[in-house]
Amino acid sequence: MKNHFTVQIYTGEIHSAPQPLDIPALISKFEQIYQKAHLDCVMIGENPDAEIDELADYLRQRGTDVYLWLSVFSGHRGLSALVNPQNKPVRQDYDPDDEKFVFGCPGNPENIRYIKQIFEKYYQRRKYDGIFLDKIRFPGFSCGTEPVFTCFCPHCRANYPVSDRIQIGNGENPLGITGYGNLKYTLADKNLHDLFAYKAEAVTASLISLIAYFREKKYKIGLDLFAPFLSYFVGQDYAALAPYADFIKPMFYRKTYAPAGLPFEIDKYANAFGGSLQEIEKRRLYLYKMLQTSAIDMSFINREIKAMRSHIGTAKLYSGIEVNYHEKIAPVKASYIKENIRMTENVDGFALSWDLCGTPDENLKAALDAGE
Ligand SMILES: [Zn+2]
Repeated sequence: MKNHFTVQIYTGEIHSAPQPLDIPALISKFEQIYQKAHLDCVMIGENPDAEIDELADYLRQRGTDVYLWLSVFSGHRGLSALVNPQNKPVRQDYDPDDEKFVFGCPGNPENIRYIKQIFEKYYQRRKYDGIFLDKIRFPGFSCGTEPVFTCFCPHCRANYPVSDRIQIGNGENPLGITGYGNLKYTLADKNLHDLFAYKAEAVTASLISLIAYFREKKYKIGLDLFAPFLSYFVGQDYAALAPYADFIKPMFYRKTYAPAGLPFEIDKYANAFGGSLQEIEKRRLYLYKMLQTSAIDMSFINREIKAMRSHIGTAKLYSGIEVNYHEKIAPVKASYIKENIRMTENVDGFALSWDLCGTPDENLKAALDAGE
């Protein structure tokens, strides 16, 4: 299924002015796609004032589903915060150069009620075939360890009362990882294991409630997920979540140096526990050892996909690859895109990420040529 694609169109943040869309340019890109491939779905978001009706009608006439691209636990002002052991909001400051993703607590049912209100207030008036749920997780290691070893809000304390006994090391294996299989790590320390298990349960319970709400309104569901070997750290349990979705998009961004990008997240994990450059490098190598690979290459990605297949039920699997170009955070060239598409096995298609508006023509062409 190398010639089945989904694409995303970014229309700006929810609370700011919409980014102007060049509709004729987008339609010209879509015509190129339809000539060579199947376009199964387009995720558009998330500014509610963006003028997308003409585009949505055009896509539906061609048999392409139009999904609302909706952030859940990050990107909204009214989410209640993650809380640290001192009952203070967790700081999620990033380097000034990084994208700012500040997360609310996935374990707090108020936050799910809030997202439903946001949907009703801003999006319900438009016609969508489905909802693509993004940022369905706890924060990763981007801001150090504190945002990961959460949450201590009253809702989370009620469900995970031992979290203040968490002990983390600072050596080459700070989490006490003893192995990796079936999309999960095994950890030596029971309290730490229980914390990550709780985080996955919190995300899953909240999403089941949110998905039930959308299913009642007859929407299809897509899920944006971290690569499995990173998903464990942010509370995403593929086996628990995927069966609720029509499709999942694991983000296998091997070039992206921003949240969800594989080199970025591995670096942030290795750096989060401090130490000298040598110690940080040892930590990275130890993680590779646990993953039984020497690099995050196509053979490792295919192993991840193979492991995923037995856990995701009937959900379709679109491998998320970058096609945008950014000199610093995503230096993506045609050869990389072709390698991804030609070498990936056992998928239903590819999610060309993360914004068709900013995708260079040669990158789109590379994806379509490789998919033929
Ligand atoms: Zn909480």
